[in-house]
Amino acid sequence: MLGQPADDPWGFEEIAAETWADILGPQYLDIALLAAFLAFAWVSFSRKSVPLKLVTFALAIGYMGFAKSYLISITNIFGILDWNWPVPKYNIAWYLFFGFTVVSTILWGRLYCGRICAYGALTQALDVVLPDRWRFDVPRGMEKRASLIKFGLLAAVLGYYLLTHDLLIYRFVEPFWLFGLFGTTAMWLGVAALLLVTVFVRNVYCRFLCPVGATLGLLSYLTVFRIKRWSECNTCTMCQKTCQWGAIEGPKILVTECVRCDDCERLYADTAKCPHWRIIEYNSRKIAYLPLQPVR
Ligand code: SF4
Ligand code: SF4
Repeated sequence: MLGQPADDPWGFEEIAAETWADILGPQYLDIALLAAFLAFAWVSFSRKSVPLKLVTFALAIGYMGFAKSYLISITNIFGILDWNWPVPKYNIAWYLFFGFTVVSTILWGRLYCGRICAYGALTQALDVVLPDRWRFDVPRGMEKRASLIKFGLLAAVLGYYLLTHDLLIYRFVEPFWLFGLFGTTAMWLGVAALLLVTVFVRNVYCRFLCPVGATLGLLSYLTVFRIKRWSECNTCTMCQKTCQWGAIEGPKILVTECVRCDDCERLYADTAKCPHWRIIEYNSRKIAYLPLQPVR
């Protein structure tokens, strides 16, 4: 070939082989920051610490949401249906994120919804700043029925996608694009209305509408490490009243709704509040004061 050295007439030697350094170079910072965030979120969960949870929310909104737009979307579920996976070596951070979401859901339940998802973190952060008197408590019966909407929506969207392969349907069922700061006027009006409703009804999208939350809820049936219950939970309703996700029904935790927010678990471990500990203390005092029986 004209211009090529005589010992390499076709120019093959110009194509340098790709090394791991070439592959990892552009990704390592992303992988390191994502791994650090996921580790922090897990520590905040395992320590059941409210301040650490609030820091996790701030990182989820700022880093995972606005900086990186790392959110599990219904489009990822479409990708699984089509068996269309990103090339692993160029998408290590994505696999880490996706793997963490699936594995943590199987181990603990919807930890992703309770800590990692930027939209969930945003609406849970509203719970912290908005006064309680603004919030409307959805009656239990209505809440139970409304929580089924997300499963219907998931089935409808998946059915629509299988028939049409129209990826853009995601714009009508999830607001996650807002972190990428794009969208039509109609989409922004829709998300503004959703956030306005969220001011008055806690986590309305996550509890009632989110198809990704529904998918993780179904996966949560496999959860290995579930929240413990005492025998006293059969009659006590303190945790049920504490749970803002409608995830406690008498002694039962509804795994599809629970996002492992820790509220009930902190109460459950509180020896001053949880009746389980108070009954143990009462019984031990009774035993201590039992009169000695005369020896016959
Ligand atoms: S329910 Fe949906 S929006 Fe809410 S935290 Fe889970 S994935 Fe995110
Ligand atoms: S209060 Fe308990 S049951 Fe309810 S969502 Fe939080 S961890 Fe789950």
